[in-house]
Amino acid sequence: MARNLGQVCRLCRREGLKLFLKGERCYTDKCAIERRNYPPGQHGQGRARFSEFAIRLREKQKVKRIYGMAERQFERYFEMAERLAGVTGENLLTLLERRLDNIVYRLGFAASRAQARQLVRHGHIQVDGKTVNLPSFLVSVGQEIRIAENSRNKKVIQEALELSQRRGAPQWIALEREQMRGFLRSLPARSELTMPISEKLIVEHYSK
Ligand code: SF4
Repeated sequence: MARNLGQVCRLCRREGLKLFLKGERCYTDKCAIERRNYPPGQHGQGRARFSEFAIRLREKQKVKRIYGMAERQFERYFEMAERLAGVTGENLLTLLERRLDNIVYRLGFAASRAQARQLVRHGHIQVDGKTVNLPSFLVSVGQEIRIAENSRNKKVIQEALELSQRRGAPQWIALEREQMRGFLRSLPARSELTMPISEKLIVEHYSK
């Protein structure tokens, strides 16, 4: 399945949760979740009953949508997480957080992960001084992520940085806002990932 580029607010309403897919709008009262917090469609306001399967599926869909991934790509991350030592669900979240597009978003250089992906693809982001245009590049602890010199005055980046002052950067990331650069202090501990995600349900979904 291709990445969903349609009405992204519907995805949040489907999951009943702000997934922060639209940048600045997500922080205003124009947010569709603030206005209509029920699933889209004709039966959206009806009483829903979910099977065990549906609950696990929804959790997987939710995380996939937060990180803006296609189905097969998400499965590959799960397979990678399974091969690593430790707890598969936590490995999965750590791998997703290490993606370059996610780090660019977390640093506040982009207002959403979708925008971060664009910045990476268009060559505006450097890792340890070299342009990396692969959004799925996995960032390691200590690697420096910076905005390329020629891209620093871009309006979208300036606006995103302004917006991110409200959002703040997580503890496990070091941001030098003036220099437009940052790095990972450490991999995120599970307790530092505050989105309401139950990774155990995703593991159960793929184990069936
Ligand atoms: Fe989701 Fe943002 Fe749309 Fe709100 S504005 S529903 S958080 S994408």
